Amino acid sequence: MQGATLEKLFDLTGRVALVTGAGTGLGRGFALTLAAAGATVAVAARRSDRLAATVNEIGAQDGTAAAFSLDVTDRERLAVVFDEIEERFGVVDIVVNNAGIARSGLLTDTADADWDAVIDVNLTAVHRVGAEAVRRLLAAGRAGSIINIASVLGVRVSAGLGAYIAAKSAVVQLTKAQALEWGPRGIRANAIAPGYFETDINTGYFDTPAGQAMVERIPLRRIGEIEELQGALLLLASNAGSYINGSIINVDGGHLCSSL
Ligand code: NAP
Repeated sequence: MQGATLEKLFDLTGRVALVTGAGTGLGRGFALTLAAAGATVAVAARRSDRLAATVNEIGAQDGTAAAFSLDVTDRERLAVVFDEIEERFGVVDIVVNNAGIARSGLLTDTADADWDAVIDVNLTAVHRVGAEAVRRLLAAGRAGSIINIASVLGVRVSAGLGAYIAAKSAVVQLTKAQALEWGPRGIRANAIAPGYFETDINTGYFDTPAGQAMVERIPLRRIGEIEELQGALLLLASNAGSYINGSIINVDGGHLCSSL
């Protein structure tokens, strides 16, 4: 291990992480985990009260974090936020592209506005945030880790979520394109494909017959706990994953092994 001790393998001390959509759900969990591993964390989203709660939680655990108001679809604001983070903490070298939305509805009923919103947040912003971070890493001559939050629905399909599925499957391929282009410069790009975790994005779904039937098809017969994403996140963010590039890590209780 070239001298690296096991305890230091996942250590993120001295690293600066940006987590989008970190006021709630998985993003909040990712921010807490990165901070617990020693990273300084910039949390970014639209709702300042939610971001403040995440920052306070990190502070209560002796971590360092600050909130940055960002709509990831706002191209101009994105560069400003990166400037603000750099001014406060330094160059971002871990990005968790987590912000996401879902709109349910059959493809024939999907309004253009819903299609555009889902593609803009879940795909285009993942590209823009990653590219902005990497331009700055390249200018600084620094290595980095880009972690995109895809979904099992980027790999398998389900009726009534067409725009979301299209966006998430594109994120899977985008991640590989990023790995190919940025790997030679020491910047790794990988994705996590979560299975099902109860958050605001799927409120109520697990209480429905369809939701319960879906859980029955997961080999582990349950949805995930947000803490169960920590291992994959830390692996990809830290030196423990130094040779992992262009990978999609499924954290889904075996869901993708089931035929339905
Ligand atoms: P969530 O609690 O609804 O979190 C989504 C976050 O994205 C919110 O905090 C929201 O914050 C932020 N966001 C949405 N639009 C944004 C925008 N335009 N600009 C900036 N931030 C924006 O749901 P979640 O489950 O944690 O979702 C997190 C990610 O995991 C998403 O990419 C989702 O697709 C993915 N995922 C979730 C599951 C699951 O089972 N929960 C499974 C697979 C993948 P603001 O509204 O404050 O901006």
